[in-house]
Amino acid sequence: MEGEVMEKVRVRYAPSPTGPLHIGGARSALFNWLFARHHGGAMILRIEDTDLERSSRESETMILESLRWLGIDWDEGVDVGGENGPYRQQQRLHIYEPYVRELLNSGQAYECFCTAEELEEERQELMQQGKMPRYLGKCRSLTGEEKERLRSAGRKPVIRFLVPAGKKLIVDDLVRGRVEFDSDDIGDFIIIKSDGLPTYNFAVVVDDALMGITHVIRGEEHLSNTPRQLLIYEALNFPLPQFAHVSLILGEDRSKMSKRHGATSVLEYRKQGYLPEAMVNFLALLGWSPEGEREIFSPEELIRLFSLERVSKSPAVFDLGKLNWLNAHYIKQLPPARLTELCLPYLLEAGLLKPEALGDKMSWLEQAVAAVQEKMEYVSQAPDLLAVFLEEKTEIESGDKTAQKILELETTPGVIAAFTEKAGKMTEWDSETVRRLLGEIGKELGVKGKALFMAVRVAVSGRSYGPDLNTLLVLLGPAAAARRAQDILEKIS
Ligand code: GLU
Repeated sequence: MEGEVMEKVRVRYAPSPTGPLHIGGARSALFNWLFARHHGGAMILRIEDTDLERSSRESETMILESLRWLGIDWDEGVDVGGENGPYRQQQRLHIYEPYVRELLNSGQAYECFCTAEELEEERQELMQQGKMPRYLGKCRSLTGEEKERLRSAGRKPVIRFLVPAGKKLIVDDLVRGRVEFDSDDIGDFIIIKSDGLPTYNFAVVVDDALMGITHVIRGEEHLSNTPRQLLIYEALNFPLPQFAHVSLILGEDRSKMSKRHGATSVLEYRKQGYLPEAMVNFLALLGWSPEGEREIFSPEELIRLFSLERVSKSPAVFDLGKLNWLNAHYIKQLPPARLTELCLPYLLEAGLLKPEALGDKMSWLEQAVAAVQEKMEYVSQAPDLLAVFLEEKTEIESGDKTAQKILELETTPGVIAAFTEKAGKMTEWDSETVRRLLGEIGKELGVKGKALFMAVRVAVSGRSYGPDLNTLLVLLGPAAAARRAQDILEKIS
């Protein structure tokens, strides 16, 4: 039980660098990190790159960048080094070698020369007999001579682990409880591929053992690998770590999370303008929950509260609405200056701002950002939300039926004309003078409510919605407000 964790906790996140960091991987990394930090233990980052075809340094770089962005750091591993390195499996081949030799010498592993066709044939046969397809051990007892013959015929062997028959394999999982497997369901599996590289199941055990990993916290998809790993631990006399297999993440329709349910890569969320603090808060709640109803947690609170005991067995559901809600919460907490910095790249990209015009506009922009801060769910919405302040020309937004209706009111042209004329002449322009100006127009023309305020809003923005009208007018300034209103007036008359 977790309360009894005595030895120094050492956990690892061990991604295969075969693509960007996905939500599931990020959640595993986060749970490991929270567990390590909660127990004052060590977090290790190991790169499992033995699949030469699918692994790349670009993927590794993306994964590291994603982790750093989330604020997940590691005490040992790629980039930071440590006593148990190297931390990339491709650089550890010499480390695996003696263990392979040990297994070969003790007869717990053997060379297998079967071709892909032979294996496929065996598979088909077993399936036809209604049996679980697995390797039946054809090469288990090849003689030295037979091996030499096959070798000289150009066959490259793999090395298989000899799975003992009739053994119960028990995973005492900290999340799932006791899970039993039967060794008879597992065929002799490959530990070294024909290219000489170790398979995941072999390398992961040697590495976890040599790196002194105490708790293996990873996705449920690896539970079925665990019995194979248990066999290797036993064969090599390595002490067992504790296992914790965290449930799958499902989409809202309860099917396995995939691109259909929204972005799956962490960097994609960064690109859309999600904040790392929101992401971390959200990921932590994917399968873990503290006591009580609270949902907002800082990383420090998560570290304090995290325990594997409160990680749920049932699948977690990825709820984008909740992520948006959390992100909106964290956006509201940001000082406007910081949010403005975050908005800038989006505004520049949308062409709403010119880099050269930025200098003297920053404090103005900050006020505009502050005016829409409440409405923002993610930062890539900035161009949409801020267009009303920034666009050169005002178009009447097509599809905005309310705006259309306002423009059709009998009183509207008069309101807009009065506004244009009066605003153009104003020398002072602040919240108070703007409020008075609108009051005057209302009184003079005998209009109020929507017919007044909505008409002015549509006149200066082309839309029936947007930030607080007074703030909008103050920030636009009298000249721009009058110019826009004049434009609209010409369009409707
Ligand atoms: N390299 C494996 C993966 O990316 C790690 C599995 C494990 O944590 O043991 O899925």
